Amino acid sequence: MRFAALLASALTLSVPAAAGPAEDRWMAHVKVLADDDMEGRLAGSAGYDRAAAYVAAEYRKLGLLPGGSNGFYQPVPLKEQSLDLPASRLALVGAAGELPLALGEQVLPGTRVPQLPEAFEAPLVFLGNGLHLPEAGHDDFAGLDLKGRIVVTLGGGPRALSGALKSHARSAEFWPALERAGAIGVVTLADPRQMDIPWERQKLFAATPGMRLADPALNDAKRPFFTASFSPAEAELLFRESGHSFADLLAIADKGGALPRLELKQKLKGRIVAHDRAFSSPNVVGLLPGRDPKLKGEYVVLTAHLDHIGVDRPVKGDAIYNGAMDNASGIASMIESGRALKAARPGRSVLLVAVTAEEKGLLGSRYFAERPTVPAGAIVANLNMDMYLPLWPFTHVTALGAEESTLGPLSAEVAAKLGVMQVPDDAPERNLFVRSDQYSFVRTGVPALALKFAASTPEQQAIQKAWLTERYHAPSDDLKQPIEPGYATAFNRYLVKLIEAVANAPERPGWREGSFFQRFERKVGE
Ligand SMILES: [Zn+2]
Repeated sequence: MRFAALLASALTLSVPAAAGPAEDRWMAHVKVLADDDMEGRLAGSAGYDRAAAYVAAEYRKLGLLPGGSNGFYQPVPLKEQSLDLPASRLALVGAAGELPLALGEQVLPGTRVPQLPEAFEAPLVFLGNGLHLPEAGHDDFAGLDLKGRIVVTLGGGPRALSGALKSHARSAEFWPALERAGAIGVVTLADPRQMDIPWERQKLFAATPGMRLADPALNDAKRPFFTASFSPAEAELLFRESGHSFADLLAIADKGGALPRLELKQKLKGRIVAHDRAFSSPNVVGLLPGRDPKLKGEYVVLTAHLDHIGVDRPVKGDAIYNGAMDNASGIASMIESGRALKAARPGRSVLLVAVTAEEKGLLGSRYFAERPTVPAGAIVANLNMDMYLPLWPFTHVTALGAEESTLGPLSAEVAAKLGVMQVPDDAPERNLFVRSDQYSFVRTGVPALALKFAASTPEQQAIQKAWLTERYHAPSDDLKQPIEPGYATAFNRYLVKLIEAVANAPERPGWREGSFFQRFERKVGE
């Protein structure tokens, strides 16, 4: 009976939904936000500001209240770091002499963390995956003197450690661990088979400035470091005098093993010339007050990032990175859910937060989560949409983080009522739960989910893979790609039901006992 019902609903949903007013409204938002006129919505650009004004105007039309610190806006103070690569230099120094490295080709200096202001010459040490996790019996920093040294690390980590733990160790825990150990820099290597964006495409962004929050207290790295990523094809250069090879290390990593730490017996010498600029870019916050007198002082926060990567190096003659799926689609769904919620009036209040500078390191969401425009302890849940990829009929949903909190079962129940099956993340190694704006809320103790279409057939997996390889962070994520609004509006119906379920539940959501993320819980209500 249950199987038959599921089959029937799957058949219904596999036919593209007929176009109607809901589809037209969703598509109209995507068309405005991903239009060339928005210039790819880079945080701080005139195009982003036009997109922010559009979202605020839509909130106003829906009758939402201003939920920012300045009307609908919450200005986020930011710093932009641009590199002067022609004036910068870098070389490997070893027994074989000095080998100059091509910046922008072999090595891409980082732009998010402030670069060391002075010239440096520092011994290199391979630090495995760079994971400081004594609680899990794994500490790549243990017993090493890193004072004045530059560490080389490979992303990822042993299979025995959970993805959440590894990602947390490489973000929130990583920079303080480097600082305590006295390291002055970090060179990051990627497993070429695990890279979302191939090196050839990463190189296109070598001259793109990076951003960070202006208040150092809100950044994980609180002081300057030399940072760079190294071409995987050239990585053997780093190991040439160590008696080991990058290929051997990759083989260990591929088997899920723990990596050794190695003296690389070479130094890295150079100077990276960088310039800072201070500016601000707004989050756009709409408030729907709750109907329940007791619950209305609590808030469900819906987020989607409004920014994308702007105008950058052209690919096939197109230089505008429109970000139609990443993430005009998410903003469009957020606005439309606001319309449905206005009619439904759930018990708790709902905040619709279009965040800035996600592409620059989850900056707008971090700022909102740390400096919310409502009392911090009153935020009960975050639901995030980032590139949820409505590329096929909405029959299966993945709620990243579902295993971690009571939001997971709630979402599965809401989905099942709509004939949609909730399935686990099919690519846990990509660590998506800690890679978008929900993580900013998780870090302040707020249970969260990131919602996505699940690829449930080989064809859908192929579509997803092709999309990530060809269009993700490329100018071709634009309005010329095939977009079926019916897939998105089916998702919107689930989204609205889920928000209602969270906002009407008598109890606020909680972390599952034993969840890794429970560690942040104490912050709630502080
Ligand atoms: Zn995105």
